[in-house]
Amino acid sequence: MRSQDVSSFPDHILNISEVFKSYQLGETKVHALRGLNLQVKVGEFTAVVGTSGSGKSTLLNLIGGIDTADSGLIEVSGQSWASLSDNKRSEMRNRLVGFVFQSFNLMPTLDVFKNVELPLLIQKDLTAAVRKERVERLLEDVGLKDFARQRPDKLSGGQRQRVAIARALVSNPLLVIADEPTANLDSETTFQIIELMRDLNQKNKTTFIFSTHDEKLMTHVNRIIRMKDGKLIESAMA
Ligand code: ADP
Ligand code: MG
Repeated sequence: MRSQDVSSFPDHILNISEVFKSYQLGETKVHALRGLNLQVKVGEFTAVVGTSGSGKSTLLNLIGGIDTADSGLIEVSGQSWASLSDNKRSEMRNRLVGFVFQSFNLMPTLDVFKNVELPLLIQKDLTAAVRKERVERLLEDVGLKDFARQRPDKLSGGQRQRVAIARALVSNPLLVIADEPTANLDSETTFQIIELMRDLNQKNKTTFIFSTHDEKLMTHVNRIIRMKDGKLIESAMA
């Protein structure tokens, strides 16, 4: 049941309307999202906060098209995930969305350059020279120009997350989704990573939406979304 007027907000990268999502856990049904509504504008730098189990990861996975909602509308850049075939969905994900994870998720056998290059390899129209230029620009942006030939296990946690951020941005996505990107980092490094994401947000106008436990970061974002029990309880502009 969706009406035309809830979709198509031209300056919104994200439009979420009445989204429900539950998981079956043995005999019990866990209601992870219970009628969530949210709009995010192009270029916003938004933090999602809430206690463990409040539904942050579920929300971010649905936004990124990694998982599907039981009901409701999720549009990224005017396109609803639900209306797409599996092929179209992964194509849209590759084109529009970059992901950063808590545990970095780098390929241990590949060096930094090759890790960042990975999302570009599926774009068949890019030459090796263009890929090299794009990867080098991103490594420069995240301050890892001199680490291109290192393997991830030679890097610190903060450096690994920089690699992951470069990889998320290398295909010029409209939206970067980061699920607790600083949860495994100390507070000084956390601060640096958030500042880096903020710089890239401002430089490229890429929209960022990330979850965090860390209230100290709240002064560094321009919007805070608070979740509780699968709903949005507050959405304040900082
Ligand atoms: P958060 O990221 O805020 O900690 P989650 O989105 O991971 O919250 O979880 C929301 C609720 O959904 C929790 O009760 C969690 O246990 C449940 N949940 C999340 N993923 C699954 C899953 N794959 N199977 C069963 N329950 C899940
Ligand atoms: Mg989570």
